[in-house]
Amino acid sequence: MVNHTQLTKSISLEKYGIKNAKINYQLSPEKLHEITVEKKQGVTSASGALAVNTGEFTGRSPKDRFIVKDDVTKDKVWWGNINIPFDSEKFEKLYNKVTDYLSDKEVFVRDSYACADADYKLNIRVINEHPWTNMFAYNMFLRPTEEELKDFTPEWTIVNAPGFMADPEVDGTRQHNFAILDFTRKVILIGGTGYTGEIKKGIFSALNFILPVYKNTLPMHCSANVGKEGDTSIFFGLSGTGKTTLSTDPERSLIGDDEHGWTAENTVFNFEGGCYAKVINLSQEQEPEIYGAIKKGAILENVIMNDKGEVDFADTSITQNTRVSYPIYHIENIRVPSIGKNPKNIFFLTADAFGVLPPISKLTPGQAAYHFISGYTAKVAGTEDGIDEPLPSFSACFGAPFMPLHPTKYAEMLSQKMKEAGVNVWLVNTGWTGGPYGVGSRMKLKYTRAMITAAMDGSLEAANKDNYHIHSVFGLKQPRTCPNVPTEVLSPRSTWNDDEGYYKTAYKLSNSFRTNFKQFEEFANQEIMDGAPNKES
Ligand code: ATP
Ligand code: MN
Repeated sequence: MVNHTQLTKSISLEKYGIKNAKINYQLSPEKLHEITVEKKQGVTSASGALAVNTGEFTGRSPKDRFIVKDDVTKDKVWWGNINIPFDSEKFEKLYNKVTDYLSDKEVFVRDSYACADADYKLNIRVINEHPWTNMFAYNMFLRPTEEELKDFTPEWTIVNAPGFMADPEVDGTRQHNFAILDFTRKVILIGGTGYTGEIKKGIFSALNFILPVYKNTLPMHCSANVGKEGDTSIFFGLSGTGKTTLSTDPERSLIGDDEHGWTAENTVFNFEGGCYAKVINLSQEQEPEIYGAIKKGAILENVIMNDKGEVDFADTSITQNTRVSYPIYHIENIRVPSIGKNPKNIFFLTADAFGVLPPISKLTPGQAAYHFISGYTAKVAGTEDGIDEPLPSFSACFGAPFMPLHPTKYAEMLSQKMKEAGVNVWLVNTGWTGGPYGVGSRMKLKYTRAMITAAMDGSLEAANKDNYHIHSVFGLKQPRTCPNVPTEVLSPRSTWNDDEGYYKTAYKLSNSFRTNFKQFEEFANQEIMDGAPNKES
């Protein structure tokens, strides 16, 4: 038998309640890849990446994400069906069951940290049942040096046991899978699901509480990059709107693809050490950087390969949410360390499947706050459902499932910081043009890239200065011209060739905005309310 343990130091898990485990501490990604293949939990793809199936769950399960309600959280968390309370004693019991389950097993332990800015560093110990989820932690969290490992004190612990099934009746969960955050014990307990995204979004949720409450820092569900002049851009948006795709730009250094903090010292820092990209329909031609990152060290999830190990990125027979994780250094142009200055441009990305929002528009401060709190994108129903109508989807702060505090807390911080920094805010529709989903088509990536490039280098503003068109329904400042983009693409109405249908749909969406915003009206001032789209007349 090969002894996989290459201890740089020896650790014990007894204090966690895990007894007699065979501990694999801090293994290299190469070793973890090898063990995964040996255990038949994954295979090597033609490009050298590890390919795994995450099992029953191929996405996060927001209904099974809980926060322990105790003295730390009870008065601060915005409780409801996003932040679902969990009893502290029940947590203790379930924790003991999970650690019993891991006792006598082979486990994989990794020390890592979150937050690229040393002042905010959060040390994390990850204890995994599987080698590939431990490798995911290597890819996604920041990697301490040998020196830092010598006297490493973990602050938060993630216990990740995909094979452990809860008994809802006894354990107080909704079903067999769960992800529970305990801010007092500083533990994230994950069971019954092998979806790796729960690991990274668990720490993200913890930071979304810790940073604003204790560190006067705004946590953001956004990607970030920096230009040659040192100008930072950040890109907010819900899943699938283009954060990872658009921040990966050969002309700009990547800070991070998903989670950042904006500090009181006017800096933006990455929480993570890696990227987690969607790979549905990925092409080498359109997204060469991400394509090239899928090599040894990367982990592909739930993709279909032929017998040569070549991936068919168009095959969604396991899930539409096929993914790859890789350490950030798989991308060539990166910022080291992952820290930038105050953003100069902020992009709100939305994949509007109604095809009515302009592909790019400039927002006033009131509109920026309104759209941030709304957090709009659209969901396109799967073809098999027989529904071809897109559904509007609103998620406050473009990331409500990860935000333990009331959305207005984050929105107030963002508004203030945007004013202080004098940033430009742009709303970018990466979704449909020429008609709604089913009729029109997705905005060409090449055009979206050209639009954000023009916004960043100032040429979009220069070309439209006093001549923006004000959208009659959404009130947005719509450029009439943009370098490297055909003029007709800039006006969604003209791409439809059906004015009546266009306005009908635009008002339908504006009504959805207004209905959704009702819950926030009591917190909004006049400036924000003036940022709302028009009512149907
Ligand atoms: P998540 O929060 O789940 O990580 P994300 O915001 O990072 O999501 P991406 O991974 O960038 O989203 O996914 C955007 C997807 O949309 C990619 O598959 C990309 O190829 C595709 N796409 C098609 N057209 C465009 C466009 N015009 N702009 C951006 N992305 C586009
Ligand atoms: Mn992403």
